Amino acid sequence: MSPPLQSIPSNDTLPSAVDVVVIGGGMAGSAAAYALAGKGLSVALLEKGQVGGEQTSRNWGWCRQQHRDLRELPLAQKSLAMWGGLAAELGSDTGFRRTGLLYVTTRPADLAMWETWTSRARGHQMHSRVLTAAEARAMTPGSTVAWIGGVHSPTDGRAEPAVAGPAIAEGARRRGASIHQQCAARGLDIEAGRVRGVMTEKGRIRSQAVLVAGGAWTSLFCRHHGIRLPQAGVISTSFFTEAAPQVVEGGLSMPEVTIRRRLDGGYTVGLTGRGRLELSPQGLLYARQFWPTFRKRRRDLSLSIGRSFLSGPEGLPRWRLDGVSPFERIRTLDPPADPSLIRKGLARLAASYPALSGLKVASGWGGLIDSTPDGIPVISPVDPLPGLYLSTGYTGHGFGIGPAAGQLAADLIVGDPPIVDPHPYRYRRMIDGTDLGAPGML
Ligand SMILES: Cc1cc2nc3c(=O)[nH]c(=O)nc-3n(C[C@H](O)[C@H](O)[C@H](O)COP(=O)(O)OP(=O)(O)OC[C@H]3O[C@@H](n4cnc5c(N)ncnc54)[C@H](O)[C@@H]3O)c2cc1C
Repeated sequence: MSPPLQSIPSNDTLPSAVDVVVIGGGMAGSAAAYALAGKGLSVALLEKGQVGGEQTSRNWGWCRQQHRDLRELPLAQKSLAMWGGLAAELGSDTGFRRTGLLYVTTRPADLAMWETWTSRARGHQMHSRVLTAAEARAMTPGSTVAWIGGVHSPTDGRAEPAVAGPAIAEGARRRGASIHQQCAARGLDIEAGRVRGVMTEKGRIRSQAVLVAGGAWTSLFCRHHGIRLPQAGVISTSFFTEAAPQVVEGGLSMPEVTIRRRLDGGYTVGLTGRGRLELSPQGLLYARQFWPTFRKRRRDLSLSIGRSFLSGPEGLPRWRLDGVSPFERIRTLDPPADPSLIRKGLARLAASYPALSGLKVASGWGGLIDSTPDGIPVISPVDPLPGLYLSTGYTGHGFGIGPAAGQLAADLIVGDPPIVDPHPYRYRRMIDGTDLGAPGML
């Protein structure tokens, strides 16, 4: 099953030349197209399947600053400010509501980690508050669990993934961008050592700059041109329920399970710390870079040999720009949900909230989360190849920071003062290993 998704139309004709081609119609690509078009540039947004069809519609809808890696916090703060005005700017609801987010726990280690993060984040003007046991229980009426504490971030919120990505892409179109779905970019058009455009399955588009925002497919795309980008995918299961009693207005994280109230009155439910890693040729290629994270998360990951070994974004296929590319063979990555995790999620909810027993599952799905070794994205020019830019590697938290990430990519392409310091997100750290610290709190 796939998650619900608002579909939007494509433009009829592919332009022969634009200022910027954006590859990938997820949050990263759509938000960048929106910001670029807002700066008056001509933009073509290419999507091999449907805008929002991969991670962007499969996410939980948390828009959070809370527990961000501190290197990513400035981007999260700018985004939260932007989410507030986005619906009015776009003329369409993204589902964003500044409801606050709440985390509660029965595990002393969680509480210790949250206290550390909250005190460090205070220097970044974050006003979240660690909760005592009594406060945590008062904020979770109806729960029968004896929470030992929690943390509350009142300025965070939630949005609807099924509509937000497509709404931002439509916003880009209203600003003059064109949108081309079922139109894979097969590779770059390179002349005299710089990017001159993109070869798509429907023809060539000339451009001054190309932004690759291909989610889990970005490393494969780059490898075709001899560009290294360590990237690894973890498959996660989520589901949503039919309308159910309201126990929380925004998002609530409990040990092993999270819920986010939806506009339709149901909950999107996520299983935390449960992922499936498929062994793949790309995984082996970048095993050394990912080893520290893998060791840390080993207990939460199940390993398998699956489809990724031969096909999918982590294979090592070769293709010609005038032939069918791997991007056309899988229009939408749609990994199956794990039914045992759905059962487990329902049981955890019922055990925490009697009012949530017997919930009906409306849909369940898998999503492949693309990660970088240090857990923060690459939003950057790719210096070995002038004209090429990346916005990728969001490591499971790129929806909430999408608006400012799109703005940053656009600033870098145009050469405007960047919305935040771009240094932490530079591509070069991926190849020379500078500052590649371990992932911070996710
Ligand atoms: C289960 C799950 C829960 C999550 N929860 C949250 C959350 O609560 N909050 C949060 O902030 N983030 C969350 N995330 C992460 C968030 O969804 C992603 O970080 C974000 O959507 C990434 O956006 P993207 O545009 O980089 O990638 P994607 O949405 O994957 O988009 C990339 C697009 O590029 C297209 N593409 C690839 N190659 C080509 C090509 N050659 N030509 C044309 N098109 C191409 C793909 O088809 C795809 O549509 C979650 C992710 C998952 C899977």
